[in-house]
Amino acid sequence: MEEKNLVESLQKYFGFSSFKGKQQQVIVEVLKDQNCFVIMPTGGGKSLCYQLPALMKEGTALVISPLIALMKNQVDAIRGISEDSGIAHVLNSSLNKTETQRVKEDIKKGVTKLLYVAPESLNKKENIEFFKSVKLSFLAIDEAHCISEWGHDFRPDYRNIRPIMNQIAPSIPIVALTATATEKVQEDIIKNLGIQGATVFKDSFNRPNLYYEVRTKTKQVDSDIIKFIKSNEGKSGIVYCLSRKKVENLAETLQVNGINALPYHAGLDAKTRVNNQDQFLNEQCDIIVATIAFGMGIDKPDVRFVIHHDIPKSIESYYQETGRAGRDGGEGHCLAFYSYKDIEKLEKFISGKPVAEHEIGMALLQEMVAYAETSMSRRKFILHYFGETFDEKNGLGADMDDNTRYPKEQRQAEEELKTLLEVVKSTSNKYKAKEIVHILMGTTNSQIISHKTHEKDIFGCGNNQDKLFWMALIRQAIVQGFLKKEIESYGVLFLTKRGVEFIEAPTSFMMTLDHIHSDSVDSSANMPAAVDQQLIKLLKAERKKIALKNGVPPYAVFQEYSLDDMALKYPIAMDELVAINGVGEGKARKYGQTFLKLIANYIEEHNIIRPQDLIVKTTGENSSLKLYLIQSIDRKLPLDDIAAAKGMTMNALLDEMETIVFSGTKLNISYWIDEILDDDDQEDLYDYFIEAETDQITTALATFGDTFEEEELRLYRLKFLSEVAN
Ligand code: ADP
Ligand code: MG
Repeated sequence: MEEKNLVESLQKYFGFSSFKGKQQQVIVEVLKDQNCFVIMPTGGGKSLCYQLPALMKEGTALVISPLIALMKNQVDAIRGISEDSGIAHVLNSSLNKTETQRVKEDIKKGVTKLLYVAPESLNKKENIEFFKSVKLSFLAIDEAHCISEWGHDFRPDYRNIRPIMNQIAPSIPIVALTATATEKVQEDIIKNLGIQGATVFKDSFNRPNLYYEVRTKTKQVDSDIIKFIKSNEGKSGIVYCLSRKKVENLAETLQVNGINALPYHAGLDAKTRVNNQDQFLNEQCDIIVATIAFGMGIDKPDVRFVIHHDIPKSIESYYQETGRAGRDGGEGHCLAFYSYKDIEKLEKFISGKPVAEHEIGMALLQEMVAYAETSMSRRKFILHYFGETFDEKNGLGADMDDNTRYPKEQRQAEEELKTLLEVVKSTSNKYKAKEIVHILMGTTNSQIISHKTHEKDIFGCGNNQDKLFWMALIRQAIVQGFLKKEIESYGVLFLTKRGVEFIEAPTSFMMTLDHIHSDSVDSSANMPAAVDQQLIKLLKAERKKIALKNGVPPYAVFQEYSLDDMALKYPIAMDELVAINGVGEGKARKYGQTFLKLIANYIEEHNIIRPQDLIVKTTGENSSLKLYLIQSIDRKLPLDDIAAAKGMTMNALLDEMETIVFSGTKLNISYWIDEILDDDDQEDLYDYFIEAETDQITTALATFGDTFEEEELRLYRLKFLSEVAN
């Protein structure tokens, strides 16, 4: 086929004026019935490599593709270019008998050029018989990495393709296509399909317009994400989370913070899913918060950022997912949040799998850790992973990552590494990272004592550094191959050959400092920052005044911890006040005004710069539960029935009710109190609470411990606060 004719066909069928990348070379080979293996990054235009030759050749091309939704999109697109909708069909379990019949007739008539088949449908006996009887042009296997266990999306059904084709058409030409394949995966694919002589086409994986960034994930991650999105207002973005629960949670948090976001995961019903996806594609919504279920085959060219709330399980997944940014060649910011705790969670999860899968999973994950922790050019790291060398000085996109733009500080850690490795050696490779750090620091736990390790010389030999330093060094030593985590004994560290050599002849070891404290943030994030004591005093005085005026005790106006939070966040507007711990809309409206004024004056008087941190509103994890409780109590249902209906203990129910009441919503539980306390008791308790300095239950118990149960006191307090305070 002449070049000119090919371009004409391209024009005729697809309306494109020229080929992209290696498309034309691939198509020429496919037309010659040559086996091909095509590796092109996402958006590279792989579909066309089999669609165009399929349209030009005699017979029907079989296309194997893993996702039904994906097939449907492609079929719709192809049908758009032809008069006869029979030109492309799908054959999978979603079709009924009549529809299947129609597909088969179109193929027999020779109308159908492309038939998309799910691998499990290919397996069916009646289909095998049918395919034997018709003219097939070639077999295309899209997302071919699904064949390999070493890929990021292994599908066992993909392994049956070769044996089945041996029955149907043993010498049919094969085109395998994928967007990600390490050398190992490439080998697997070629071997499994038996296409050793295939012509291999490989476009560079470099996406020069993508900017790669990894940030430490702390407890503030949601607010970090909100800040990032707000500073990129109006742009399209995807936020990936690992779990469905987190997806829903985060989508809601974004929504209440004024961001136009929708959730997407496989647990949503089909209608919602399609609707949310369409809204994102049509730009009615800016942000889609999703599990990895979202994105395959989604062709939105102007996604401006991809955020990973959780680190992916492999570099392949990471590359695929980040690859959805900037497909039009424009801006594409890839921001991943990383914490080693997340890695440990993934490790735990993987450790439940069968051994082979487990080992592979761990190895892939280890690469991901290495990527997150590296201080080298991230682009170079990724491309190296896919078997390409990248010139980090002059290559395309050379300065498009955080490490290159803002190099991390490093320090010489030759001596410390030697100390670490010696400790691992002299404890005969039997400890996990945590114990090794204990030993270095000279602290014990039961395991260390039972092995008598605390009696050894090396015990405490690293106490000139802190715990976090050693944790960081251990991780970096693993990444650099001096130590290895034993998979079988889950997490035990042992020396590699390289580690042994290092002890014998130490050389320079530059350690990256940036990560030393990356985990410390987690533990300190809960500690309150310095609370403004002077403001607290003023707030308390105000509270007392208001309490007196309303004839209620001060804690019924705002709880102590709410005042603390105000002195931390300096709210000056109603919606900011509502975001304060323990302050609901009701209370904010009832008592808030004067507090806001007071804080505003205080800020001005003292030239206070309010925290740059946005005040992130939370949705309240259990908003639906709360609603249920409020409604049930409204209907005067017995509390023990409500608890039972929700599978809660009375204690947990009380906790929930307290959160509701403390934030200013009334719960009228008199009907229940009247059941359990007689009038005299109620009067005693009322007198107590109205006079008390504090509403703490421990204090109340000191007075009433002989007469009332804790549960009764808590219940009465709820009634009291509902009536007096809210
Ligand atoms: P991949 O499967 O490699 O991720 P697709 O086949 O989905 O990529 O193609 C990505 C986008 O590129 C699609 O929007 C497609 O229409 C477009 N495209 C493919 N080939 C060409 C071409 N030769 N000229 C212009 N656009 C093309
Ligand atoms: Mg594709």
